[in-house]
Formats: sequence, structure tokens, C-alpha cells
Amino acid sequence: MDVPRGPDVIHRIHVAAEWLEEGALIEFELPRNLKCAACEGGGCDACGRSGAVSVRGRKELGEVVQVTLPKRDESSLESTASGRTLVIRIPERGGMSESPALPRGLLLLSVVPADASDPGVQRIERPVPPPVLTEEEAMAPEPAAEGADAPAPVAAPPKSRTALWVGVVIVLWLLLLAWLRLTGRG
Ligand SMILES: [Zn+2]
Repeated sequence: MDVPRGPDVIHRIHVAAEWLEEGALIEFELPRNLKCAACEGGGCDACGRSGAVSVRGRKELGEVVQVTLPKRDESSLESTASGRTLVIRIPERGGMSESPALPRGLLLLSVVPADASDPGVQRIERPVPPPVLTEEEAMAPEPAAEGADAPAPVAAPPKSRTALWVGVVIVLWLLLLAWLRLTGRG
């Protein structure tokens, strides 16, 4: 975690408790100026004593962050001074480094379960599941067809092999009977 990078920042959002329980995908706009994570707003070298860190230039467009909430029961969250909180560490969403070659810092997203989400926090219905389902449906017939084709040739050899063994046993039995009769023991 101590890779050189821009300053880490803290952002706190309120999220409807049921979204957290469901592990919802959410979206919110990241403010340009955020609290410095190193000093929690008190002022330090990382933030130039201001307590705040800018995550983008003044002219840059707003930055929307999407994050999937980890499914969490409210009772399993960390207790902090401000109540039960979940902190999600999001890389490359923090402050910009002075050196453009270095990555941005971490965004320490503090998620506070509440009755209602902050106005800027929106739930996104995942567009992913339907394509995955159709893909599975499209994939499903293929193995099934393969499975339907496969048993026939696979099942056939055991049958003919069983028939062969039954034939061999019958022949041996007849030979045994013939031998018993020939030797006068039948
Ligand atoms: Zn600071």
C-alpha cells in the first residue's frame, strides 16, 4: 500500500441500508475537493496544510464513480465515532500526484447506512445479468446436444461388450457341460 502515489482522500456518503444489504451497484459524482486522508482534514504536508485535496483540475468535468457495495449486514459494520461505517478503498480516485507518472491516491469511501441515500448517490440496475443469462442459455443447448450425442457412442460399447462377455460365458458353460458329459460326470 506504500507505493508512491498521489495523496489519499476521504469521502463519506450515506446509502440506504437495504442497498448495502443487497450489495447494490451505486454511482455518485466525486467532489473536486475532498478531505485529506493523511490528516483527516487537520492539515499536513501531503495536503499543503489545507486539509483538503483536489482530485482534478478546475476545468475538468465532474468525475462519476461507480462502486459495487459489498453485501454487508448493518450489524457487521465497523463502529466508528460517527456510527456504523464501511470503508471501501478505491485505487486511483484520490488526489493527483505532483509527478504525472505516478498514479492518483486512494479514495477511502466511507459508506454510512441510512434510511435514505444521499441525493447524489444513485443506484444503477446492473446491465450485466441479462446478457449473462442469454449467454448461458445460448451455451446451454451446446453441452446438452453434445451430451445427447455422446451417450449413444459411449453407451454402445458397454452394451456390445456385455453381449460379448455373455456370449463368452455361454460358450464356456456349454464347453464345461460338454466336458462334464464327455468325462461321464454329468
Ligand atoms: Zn493532510
